[in-house]
Amino acid sequence: MNTIPAATLERITWSYRTKPLFKDLNIQFDQGAFITIVGPNGSGKTTLLRHLLGMLRAEGAVVHLFDRPLRSYSQRELAKKVSYVPQQNKMDYDFTVQECVAMGRYAHSSRLSLLTEEDNHRIQQAIEEVELSHVKDRIATELSGGEYQRMLIARALAQQAQFIVLDEPVSHLDIHNQREILSLLKKLVDQNIATVLCVLHDLNAVSAFSDIVCMMKDGVLVAQGTVQEVLTQERIESVYRIEVNITEDPQTQRPIITPCWIR
Ligand code: ADP
Repeated sequence: MNTIPAATLERITWSYRTKPLFKDLNIQFDQGAFITIVGPNGSGKTTLLRHLLGMLRAEGAVVHLFDRPLRSYSQRELAKKVSYVPQQNKMDYDFTVQECVAMGRYAHSSRLSLLTEEDNHRIQQAIEEVELSHVKDRIATELSGGEYQRMLIARALAQQAQFIVLDEPVSHLDIHNQREILSLLKKLVDQNIATVLCVLHDLNAVSAFSDIVCMMKDGVLVAQGTVQEVLTQERIESVYRIEVNITEDPQTQRPIITPCWIR
């Protein structure tokens, strides 16, 4: 594992208007891992990502991306390093899949220039990687939820970012498509192509895919570690306020979490 973290956030204190959320939050994300952020609605997951990406800036905070302070990056430099897939990011424009994926190349090309052979090669490669070649000329808004999400990942691949940050990328997908997308992201990590940081709600998907889990509650990082360390019965019950049973997957030795829906 690379010793320089993908990102470090120190001393984040943040309120929305008068409502305090983070008080001196510190968190580090190592490179080369599939990292998930979990926690109940409103615990601060999206806000944390916004601080990491420089969309929000807290006074007195220090945010590093790889070996440099975040504020030293130009927009273009940032786009080469990090790719962000926000929640429910459906565009209203009539761009084709190929054109949407091509947007990932803009950080690499000079302003207003045509796409180079290298750009086109990267775009086609990314589309093939996510298995969307058969719909590459289709208008993106006409894709299914799973295809659309794959297209956003293709855009991130074309961008060649070392760090891919996704906010609930599979929340609206069926379990087959959830597995496809998460497996694709995991493959990027396993092949040392990118570090993946991903907000997820399904704790069983978190358990199956994460190298590191960060659990948040009320703006506090309550735990960070392996799935076995973080996804304990006691912690899940207290953070989510629901009883759960935990067993071990005999194949992977990872926890399987079963909420007690009815009691
Ligand atoms: P999560 O992603 O864990 O659901 P968020 O980071 O979206 O949590 O929100 C954390 C808290 O901050 C919530 O109480 C939410 O209502 C509040 N919040 C988020 N965005 C804003 C905003 N733009 N203005 C005011 N409050 C906000």
